[in-house]
Amino acid sequence: MSNKAICPVCPHHCALSEGQTGLCRARGNRDGRVVSLSYGRVTSIALDPVEKKPFNRWQSGKYILSVGTFGCNLSCAFCQNAAISQVGAETDTEELPPERLAEIAEELAPRGNVGAAFTYNEPLIGWEYVYDSAKLLHEKGLLVALVTNGTAEPEILETLLPYVDAMNIDFKTWSAENYKKLGGDLETVRHTILRAAKSCHVEVTTLAVPGISDSVEDMDEEAAWLATISEDLPLHISRYFPRWKMDEPMTPLQTIGKLCETARRHLKYVYAGNC
Ligand code: SF4
Repeated sequence: MSNKAICPVCPHHCALSEGQTGLCRARGNRDGRVVSLSYGRVTSIALDPVEKKPFNRWQSGKYILSVGTFGCNLSCAFCQNAAISQVGAETDTEELPPERLAEIAEELAPRGNVGAAFTYNEPLIGWEYVYDSAKLLHEKGLLVALVTNGTAEPEILETLLPYVDAMNIDFKTWSAENYKKLGGDLETVRHTILRAAKSCHVEVTTLAVPGISDSVEDMDEEAAWLATISEDLPLHISRYFPRWKMDEPMTPLQTIGKLCETARRHLKYVYAGNC
């Protein structure tokens, strides 16, 4: 009989032996249970303008305390944040329990802070920290945002949604095949977007990566599908720059222009990013 524990958090469903760490590097089998290894261990913290998350149609002009831990359940070669997303528990972190995070967020309110955003690395793989913090933030009348790749099982999303006010969800590519290459799953992300949009403010970001997500035909289909949720749903189409393992030249501005023009046939609010 196998003594492996199965992680229920995302579609990878890592089967982990005692002491083993999952593909995301942020969860592991400890004492027979798969637990979060990143709980309260922060790699980055900053008071950012909400537009930097990006949110262009939520709390405009305000700031949000942004925190990240480590790990990610995708492995995009072009990751723009690999220094924290592609590392594990060995990385340098600072302890920041949910109570202290909520206190800092409250202390920053006079500087225009509206709450906390869980961002920089993938927050859903460490959902327990988000959940505990979000409850405390809401008790203080503060807002909660997630910047996420949307790759988690529906049960995790349902647990968090009552405490989430806004999400920026990465839509990596319309191609199911390309999603697989990144370690993701198109249908899971589509479900996350559909479900989240019923519960909180949602904006979507597609990083236009050469050969992965820069096809005008795919963008036409992606934007048409997003418009079936709402033509008011904001879409950010961001320019890729070479990072981590990918050295393809940056996305030409002309391509970003064409993608935006295509998406605007379906959606009212389309923004070019990183340009
Ligand atoms: S959250 Fe991490 S450990 Fe759990 S299934 Fe996904 S990749 Fe594996």
